[in-house]
Amino acid sequence: MKIEISRRKFLQGSVALTILGGSTLSSVNLFAEDSKKKSNNNNKKIPTLCEMCVNKCAGIAEVKNGIVKKLDPNPLFPKSRNMLCPRGVAGVHALYDPDRLKYPLVRVGKRGDGRFKRVTWDEAYEAILNGTEDFKGLKEILDKEKNNRSTIGYCAGEGMAEHTFKSFMFNKMGSLNFVNHASICLQTTISAHKLTIGAYGQADLENANYVIMAGANRAEAIVTPDTMDIFKRTRGRGATLIVVDPRYTNTAVLADEWLGIKVGTDLAFVLALTYVAIKEGLYNKKFVEQNVNGFKEYKEHIISNRYTPEWAEKITGIKADKIVKIARDFMASAPRAIFYQGRRTAWSLQDFQFRRASAIFTALGGGVDIKGGIVFGKKLPLPSHKINTPFYTNTKNRIDRDVALMVGRNGSWIGWRNKIIEKRTEYPIRAMFTYKQNPMLSVPNVAKTKKLFEMMDLVVTIDTMPSDTVIMSDVILPECTYLEREDPIKSFGGVEPAIALRRKVIEPLYESRPVFEILKGLSKKISLSLWEVSRKYDEDIDDDMEAYHEEGFDLTDMFGKSQEEVNRALFTKKYGEKAYQTLKQKGVYYPNMDKYFKKISKNEYQYYPEDKKYYSVLKKDLKSEIYRGDCVDEKELASTEGKVKTKSGKIECNLTFLTKKGTYAMPTWQDKLYKETPEYKFRFITGRHAQFTQNSTANNAMLLDLVRENYIWINKNQADKLGIGYGDVVEVKSPIGKVEIKAYPTNKIIENVVFYVHGFGSTSDELTLGYRNGASDNMIISDDIEHTFGSAVMHETDVEIRKVES
Ligand code: SF4
Repeated sequence: MKIEISRRKFLQGSVALTILGGSTLSSVNLFAEDSKKKSNNNNKKIPTLCEMCVNKCAGIAEVKNGIVKKLDPNPLFPKSRNMLCPRGVAGVHALYDPDRLKYPLVRVGKRGDGRFKRVTWDEAYEAILNGTEDFKGLKEILDKEKNNRSTIGYCAGEGMAEHTFKSFMFNKMGSLNFVNHASICLQTTISAHKLTIGAYGQADLENANYVIMAGANRAEAIVTPDTMDIFKRTRGRGATLIVVDPRYTNTAVLADEWLGIKVGTDLAFVLALTYVAIKEGLYNKKFVEQNVNGFKEYKEHIISNRYTPEWAEKITGIKADKIVKIARDFMASAPRAIFYQGRRTAWSLQDFQFRRASAIFTALGGGVDIKGGIVFGKKLPLPSHKINTPFYTNTKNRIDRDVALMVGRNGSWIGWRNKIIEKRTEYPIRAMFTYKQNPMLSVPNVAKTKKLFEMMDLVVTIDTMPSDTVIMSDVILPECTYLEREDPIKSFGGVEPAIALRRKVIEPLYESRPVFEILKGLSKKISLSLWEVSRKYDEDIDDDMEAYHEEGFDLTDMFGKSQEEVNRALFTKKYGEKAYQTLKQKGVYYPNMDKYFKKISKNEYQYYPEDKKYYSVLKKDLKSEIYRGDCVDEKELASTEGKVKTKSGKIECNLTFLTKKGTYAMPTWQDKLYKETPEYKFRFITGRHAQFTQNSTANNAMLLDLVRENYIWINKNQADKLGIGYGDVVEVKSPIGKVEIKAYPTNKIIENVVFYVHGFGSTSDELTLGYRNGASDNMIISDDIEHTFGSAVMHETDVEIRKVES
């Protein structure tokens, strides 16, 4: 199948905004065909949710004769406000990419050499259960490990069906060894905010008057609707944006001030801002007195350690008077002032304390749980899908609990992998199941990840594209794309909460299946055989069929109803059949949507009236009208009693339990965790580009048409000294690997720092466009971890650069 879309048409599509005919929902029919098409039953408009990145914007797919012609934004969803970014529009190419995985495949050559044979689904499941002459099957593996289910490792990327995969592997298969994107994504900042202010929350950029962004390149890295708020509504109405970044990014271009900070010194910057706010008494005393725990100790700590602007200037490279001015201006704008919580994984070894310090700084201005600050919002309740979970006596605990101070259920990708390859685990991990993740490109130190896969007895991968990880697999199970399946229904919390549904737009192409159906088929094949293994080693398991069914050992019972039936049952239980029909037809539902939703101007919509939005949710009177009805689980609200969700119910400056865990109770700068880049070397930093989502878009023709490959940014003065010009190929060498990439000398990056975007440099030759296009960052990023939660630290690697060819 060949689908050609010209660049001009594509760009038109990405900015095309749906113009509605009426002013309220009842007068709008977004899903009607125009009169000419109406006569043709083969034309449809179906609501869906984008999966080209994690944001899940709402779209409408236009389908003609079973072909998805284009994707338009769905204006009804408060989260995405009538927007699909270029990646969202390019979802059509994810569907029709000729390189897609089309059939189940089983390895026949050496692992990693790319030789596979096409098999039926049943043969693929059979290979997973009993292996082939080239690899072992689950039955033999579990037999060897005496039914310690945790010998099966598994990983997943973020997505609406991630929970289905995780539930199957965790609740039904019984393994505790799960690693997901969290420790290579937002783990550190989310956890630091949870511990400090009770939740990561949502920066109310639409109403903030002052925003500091450190290391968050929203205008370039994640162009979502709330990004647009920063630049459209926030700046447009005169709010101030300060960008702190070693690079003059596209976000910095749009800011009031760019501060080119030295890599890894953001903590010193915030501590100095805090020093000024405390020393000059600028903080919100009433708010602090009522809501902040341990402030007295924190105040003493900041003052006695002399975290002065002059001290910070020497570390950060930001002038002391600038720090003083920013602290004063921020507090003058507070409580509508936010130190943005940040995105992605840890940049430096001190990131946990940096995120704690920034959350406390926002709180000192009173900007928590308030319009224009960090808000918590509400979530529309949805009943959960119950699973009958078996108990496997011999299952051992996960292997990576000691790699950091607090490793949670989502694990530490790097710590987990390194323990396995260094053979430091209590028991061996013999199998690896991968779903919607490409650790060969997404986890720092590719050589070590390759070794991990080489060590496995069995590697099973579920994906849509032949990624670098797919090539390392024994059994490949082709998943259909998000446009070919219905996913678990999802409730989106926030100031304007809503429930949205990702509906199937067309039937799965080729022999691909949704992960729900893939696991259903697998469970049918393996359930009884694995139960036999369990009975052999777990003495407590009854061997009659009644126990098999009643105690959850029947793996198939998780898939008794289809995904569509599960969604319908869960939703109607709470909101009824009429609401379900609205959800199905429009893709979005929230109570009173028909009354609240209004078109205000050409591309502006009201979702909730201002007085119905959930800005401050902790202190509201439960009797208030806003808290009645379907929108809020009143029990959950009552339990908060006006407190944030920390242990003490207050914002925490001084977490003494952290001392027992082995780290500082209060944000503290540690010289020993900061290293200057040696002369003649460069600190490597990485980031994202708006047109690419990690590495999942590496082969997308529509997006590559906009940005063909990645270039390395290098300070122009330094490039001149090295004789490096634009487009020259340079070798970038770190202690763990090297790559070749084209150079982009520029004054938009500070000296001694180099940068290129993530998402390029695939080595899978099954990717026609992605193969060896640009360079992979994780080929050179060393595997440092942040020691509180075990997240990958991306900006601690020094590299050498030399010109290879002009
Ligand atoms: S931001 Fe873009 S890629 Fe991400 S969900 Fe929205 S439309 Fe899709």
